[in-house]
Amino acid sequence: RIQVQELHKYFGKNEVLKGIDLEVGNGEVIAVIGPSGSGKSTLLRCLNRLEDPTSGRVLVDGVDITAKDTDLDKIRQRIGMVFQHFNLFPHKTVLENVMLAPVELKKMTKAAARERGLELLRRVGMEEKADARPAQLSGGQKQRVAIARALAMDPEVMLFDEATSALDPEMVGEVLQVIRDLAAAGMTMVLVTHEMGFAREVGDRVVFMADGVVVEEGKPGDLFDNPQHQRTKDFLSRVL
Ligand code: ATP
Ligand code: MG
Repeated sequence: RIQVQELHKYFGKNEVLKGIDLEVGNGEVIAVIGPSGSGKSTLLRCLNRLEDPTSGRVLVDGVDITAKDTDLDKIRQRIGMVFQHFNLFPHKTVLENVMLAPVELKKMTKAAARERGLELLRRVGMEEKADARPAQLSGGQKQRVAIARALAMDPEVMLFDEATSALDPEMVGEVLQVIRDLAAAGMTMVLVTHEMGFAREVGDRVVFMADGVVVEEGKPGDLFDNPQHQRTKDFLSRVL
């Protein structure tokens, strides 16, 4: 379970997160939506300490991961993240990309990491491409490998930052299907997405952010069909 408490983030004098409070239950899927520049990516990055919040706390199962003595490697093992751009290692094969972190960080044996890697590639429908290089893959295939790579650390939580927005439209569906399968398997996830249909379908809750605050949150049906705030209505009328 993740608890975000009074989270503030400044970049210089620019206050980008203005006191975010949010809870994510175990197995819950939260979809975060909102206009460009509203702080969605910054919030996500604070959740696995790719950014240091200026103040406030993030608790994971009651443990404050914003504390100074936090082991960042450990946090990022527990909280996996998938980005818009996949950043696979170009000179390594698909399977090597997936095996790398467990071998280096968790001291899994190579044989065990290979077996687990193949299992994860099967899960995202990429087993046949295990020996291919990233350059030989489509965008959607690369993103599925990036998801398998994040899963290889056995994270308790997965964060997705617009994982489909760099993809050609025909590739979006296959990546969304992998995320859908993870949700069905009970993975705790926070998804930043501009796919409103997907947010509605897969989100247990939708959080609408604007200008560094959570304007409103609720069940997808409530938030999309019956938004309470003018800001939300304006945003939805532009994107739906
Ligand atoms: P988008 O939908 O376009 O991805 P977003 O909601 O993810 O937007 P953020 O990327 O979190 O927005 O950015 C929020 C604000 O913080 C923006 O004004 C941005 O310019 C600023 N910002 C983000 N990262 C940095 C950084 N590393 N240094 C300085 N300013 C930053
Ligand atoms: Mg962003």
